[in-house]
Amino acid sequence: MSLSLTDITLTYPDGDSRLTALDHVTLDVPKGGLTAVVGPSGSGKSSLLAVAATLITPDAGTVTIDSTATTGMTRDELTRLRRDKIGIVFQQPNLLPALTAAEQLQVMARIAGRSPAKAHGRAMELLDAVGVAAQAGRRPHQLSGGQRQRVNIARALMNSPAVLLVDEPTSALDHERGAAVVDLITRLTHQQAIATVLVTHDRTHLTAVDRIAEVHDGRLRLATAPC
Ligand code: ADP
Ligand code: MG
Repeated sequence: MSLSLTDITLTYPDGDSRLTALDHVTLDVPKGGLTAVVGPSGSGKSSLLAVAATLITPDAGTVTIDSTATTGMTRDELTRLRRDKIGIVFQQPNLLPALTAAEQLQVMARIAGRSPAKAHGRAMELLDAVGVAAQAGRRPHQLSGGQRQRVNIARALMNSPAVLLVDEPTSALDHERGAAVVDLITRLTHQQAIATVLVTHDRTHLTAVDRIAEVHDGRLRLATAPC
């Protein structure tokens, strides 16, 4: 498994007591597999992604990324693990306003200490894969919402992550563009053999995903087949 969450419980402080955001959650995502996570607002979807991304340490349970158990890792070790193994796509594309689409991607390679010459080629290849190669020289304000989200996805793939975590990528897009973004993520997951978790509250896009899991009040249940 490229990503395993095993018996994860996560609580947040809530006045005098604690709120249980994730309640004994177990989820395994194989290489090249896309699991969609659906559930109402407040059910724990973003918390699940934050734990999988090693951004939040759960109260109990184990997160394993690409066969490495993350329990007991130092902050520096986790930062390196995230940089090298995990691609994260948040709801809003937080692109840097001054940089072109190609530069947004090249910066990721530079942070990881990779060769700038190779980074340019890889950036162009990925922008092409997500269908915005013609916009490589444009800055975020010169791109449409759908194009920005595509650049955001390409950026998350720049360092060839083993795991891709995507939080509601279609919330700012109309139905057609939303469906295209989910199709794109599905295709890249299969092509690049990534383990992907895609969070969404909109089930209508989920026609081609490998598996759907539902979260309710922090409990996760695997649904049998895509709907
Ligand atoms: P979703 O992404 O499904 O909307 P979240 O994971 O954001 O759900 O939230 C799950 C529950 O945890 C909600 O009740 C939310 O209010 C609570 N919560 C989320 N983040 C925090 C936080 N940083 N501190 C306290 N409570 C939080
Ligand atoms: Mg959320």
